[in-house]
Amino acid sequence: MKARLVSFHDLCPDVRHFIFEVPDLERLDFQPGQFVSFVREFEGRNITRPYSIASVPNGSNRFELCLNLVREGRLSPVLFAMDTGEELEMKGPLGVFTLRHPDREAVFVATGTGVAPFRSILLAHAPKVTVPLALVLGTRYEPNLLYRADFEDLAARCPNFRFLPVLSRPEPAWRGLTGHVQPHMLDSIGERRDLDVYLCGLKLMVDEARALLKERGFDRKQILFEKYD
Ligand SMILES: Cc1cc2nc3c(=O)[nH]c(=O)nc-3n(C[C@H](O)[C@H](O)[C@H](O)COP(=O)(O)OP(=O)(O)OC[C@H]3O[C@@H](n4cnc5c(N)ncnc54)[C@H](O)[C@@H]3O)c2cc1C
Repeated sequence: MKARLVSFHDLCPDVRHFIFEVPDLERLDFQPGQFVSFVREFEGRNITRPYSIASVPNGSNRFELCLNLVREGRLSPVLFAMDTGEELEMKGPLGVFTLRHPDREAVFVATGTGVAPFRSILLAHAPKVTVPLALVLGTRYEPNLLYRADFEDLAARCPNFRFLPVLSRPEPAWRGLTGHVQPHMLDSIGERRDLDVYLCGLKLMVDEARALLKERGFDRKQILFEKYD
């Protein structure tokens, strides 16, 4: 199956939002949280890289991705060099990092482009339910808070959704949360042990957050995670 690039724009330096379509399909069916895999020949071998879908299923053959450029990487520079109309081999949608218990309270924790599956899940799910949902989104600098406007708008529309942006290198004018996401994840959970925690991003954050949750008595079935590296 081919994916064709429809449009793209930069969200901040080295992070790009892509809109693709699948010309062979009228409709791409996927569940929020799933990913697609791109396949490309590199030095005589096929390499495959998964990318979380950042958009909500909308009955069309389009889907959106949020990618950061890994400068020494093999596939992400190829994607950043693509122009509209160009095509790439694609597999999927795949993966089981989807909402496990739609009726259960949940905290979502992401760093960087790890927010992609949560954009899909939260935009689709938060308006439909009344259970509390929170997103703890970490990055270094304020302009790198990906999809901030979407999440602020969602929080304004849905009283059950809390958006908790966290900056590790804030400007002095920043009045919000600072440091790493892990302590803010624990704060937003408090003494509760009956909710689900979803983690997505690079291994370092995911592993640290999992260890903290396990130390605090979380059942491993309530910790759902996807590691990007
Ligand atoms: C299920 C899943 C979903 C993913 N979804 C996304 C997504 O939505 N957006 C996205 O940008 N990436 C996502 N990734 C990561 C992506 O698949 C690639 O690993 C990434 O684009 C690097 O590929 P590359 O070929 O350019 O680099 P490679 O040639 O594979 O080299 C990668 C090297 O860069 C390091 N690295 C630095 N930053 C990253 C990073 N952000 N991700 C991975 N490796 C990194 C790795 O440790 C590794 O050593 C996802 C990964 C998985 C497993």
